[in-house]
Amino acid sequence: MGGKVASEKEAHRAREATCRRCGRCCHQKLNVDGRIFYLDTACPHLDPETRLCRVYERRFEVNPDCISVGEGVRRGVFPADCPYVAGLAGYRPPMEDPDPEALADALDALVGEEVEL
Ligand code: SF4
Ligand code: SF4
Repeated sequence: MGGKVASEKEAHRAREATCRRCGRCCHQKLNVDGRIFYLDTACPHLDPETRLCRVYERRFEVNPDCISVGEGVRRGVFPADCPYVAGLAGYRPPMEDPDPEALADALDALVGEEVEL
């Protein structure tokens, strides 16, 4: 039992070590009918210089919107080249630098009327 917990922690650490600290997963996102778009604004807890979370150990407590890696994979918040999801079959990454027309079309479809960006 203790061995299982230890190996899960080790696996977690090993996975964290693959993170390249690009910080893109910590940018705000727009979910348009299941399609995720990255926005330019980053989470206020992301250090713009180091691209590291300033509250990492307490992130879920400090930011109730911060989600676990598993949940992030499920919701598709990691960019395609992120080691957490690279090569994951069927994974659909967020749209980065979305074409404004594509974003406007997606929003139109969501609200049922034309949206100007
Ligand atoms: S997108 Fe991936 S590599 Fe970049 S900070 Fe997030 S977890 Fe790390
Ligand atoms: S609180 Fe969560 S979303 Fe915000 S910078 Fe830290 S890890 Fe990223």
